[in-house]
Amino acid sequence: MRRFIMMLELVLFTTIVSAQSEGTESTSSNTLLQRPKLVIGIVVDQMRWDYLYRYYNRYAPDGGFKRLLNGGFSCENTMIPYTPTITACGHASIYTGSVPAINGITGNDWFDYNKGSLLYCTQDDGVKTTGSNTAEAGQMSPRNLLVTTITDELRLATNFRGKVIGLAIKDRSAILPAGHSANAAYWYDHDTGKWITSTYYQDELPGWVKDFNNQKLADKYYALDWNTMYPLDSYTQSAPPARAFPHNLKQYAGKNYQVISATPYGNSFTIEMAKAAIAGEQLGADSITDMLTVSLSSPDYIGHAYGPNSVEEEDCFLRLDKDLGEMLDLLDKQIGKGAYMIFLTADHGVANVPAFLNEHKIPAGNFDNEQVTAGLNQLLSNKFKAEDLVTGIINYQVYLNRNAIAENKINKDLLYATIINYLLTDTSVERAFAFDAINQTTLNATIKEAFINGYYPSRSGDIQIVLKPQYIDGFLKGGTTHGVWNPYDAHIPLIWFGCNILPGKTNKQVYITDIAPTVAALLKIQMPSGCIGHVIEGVVK
Ligand SMILES: [Zn+2]
Repeated sequence: MRRFIMMLELVLFTTIVSAQSEGTESTSSNTLLQRPKLVIGIVVDQMRWDYLYRYYNRYAPDGGFKRLLNGGFSCENTMIPYTPTITACGHASIYTGSVPAINGITGNDWFDYNKGSLLYCTQDDGVKTTGSNTAEAGQMSPRNLLVTTITDELRLATNFRGKVIGLAIKDRSAILPAGHSANAAYWYDHDTGKWITSTYYQDELPGWVKDFNNQKLADKYYALDWNTMYPLDSYTQSAPPARAFPHNLKQYAGKNYQVISATPYGNSFTIEMAKAAIAGEQLGADSITDMLTVSLSSPDYIGHAYGPNSVEEEDCFLRLDKDLGEMLDLLDKQIGKGAYMIFLTADHGVANVPAFLNEHKIPAGNFDNEQVTAGLNQLLSNKFKAEDLVTGIINYQVYLNRNAIAENKINKDLLYATIINYLLTDTSVERAFAFDAINQTTLNATIKEAFINGYYPSRSGDIQIVLKPQYIDGFLKGGTTHGVWNPYDAHIPLIWFGCNILPGKTNKQVYITDIAPTVAALLKIQMPSGCIGHVIEGVVK
């Protein structure tokens, strides 16, 4: 009889809720699915895979990275199979198992051909800020994301009883992972130093968020200044320090809440917020799986400003290691060892600072976006007698003024050829081709696929620029960036840890798009609606 009931249950596709509550008369493990009480997705914004090992010897035994690496399953060769390799696309891909060509998140911003203006990835003029008076900071929602996320699928699978909360300093990094049906997403308002949300989620902040804001942690972090955690001369994984330490932060208290993002305290702040969310929302407290998405934005701000070879970056990761260790301690105590599951990954990597590479005879340089755009418009104005035919170069794509081309009856083939020939005269450009002609373009198959995966017709530009390796877009006065197909931007860490995860590692190439279907397999729930990834074998017990 019991066997019959079990079979019936399987046939009826019981939900997580019923599977977990109906089995109470029997504790035999083969009648109950073992699901984690809490899944925590951690995205380290701008973390190259090699940072796991570059700083390995300095990570603490009770810190986060060594415990995750040695107790979990590491996918050592996880690649991003699309361009541009930037924040919004990375977060969308991790949680949708999809690519910009399908999920529609083609950049942090893209050009909206209908409106004739830039559109921010999570911009939503139909909603308002909840939690502060900064109007623009809260006009945000996931409405530009076209598919479901793994977090949406968890909500669906639990009949909306499993909670989903998204957190990050960056709005887009909180909103996109949490999906459409999240209980809430919270991000940081740089004007007020408060964590906020939008009316898409809530009309008023819950008490625990208000309490958290009332602690005024930003000012407390500022009071500490930014000194290196260890003696400065021990930072041997970095280029000789510029002696910028200590970074004086006291001056910003009560005045400037933006600066904290570009210090390691931005990570500590976010992790404290995550701890407050676990307590405030009772995440992982019952047997229905909850999910918390945490994105750590500060390594990206620090990396852009100082580069991957800086003491600032090294100190950032040593401190993050400590913060992650404390978070694991809390989870062990509060949820229980083996009762929660974590995956840690990144949205993209980063290029070395071009000037630093040049000092060591490695070719590198900067693409001057504004100069090229101006030069193109000058040339096209002379040749086609029409102004501003190039709207802009965004995400390494040339956006053309499609209306002006039609109105002026401009020959498209001649226009494209003129633009491409001009681009090819730039020393930082390796190739350029029209998306219309991508099939006729001779290009390595992996790179070609990355461009196709990044292309969404109504949101992408018309001509793709391929920069030479080590060349970056902008940052002419210093610092660095990311966004291209090359491994320094596209090779990210991916570690699984906790409930149902076997310790181990693989060097087999997997993709950022494989994360969501692997979470789906671990939770035994449906994949997101635009998922094209595969379950990573070896991770799932
Ligand atoms: Zn970035």
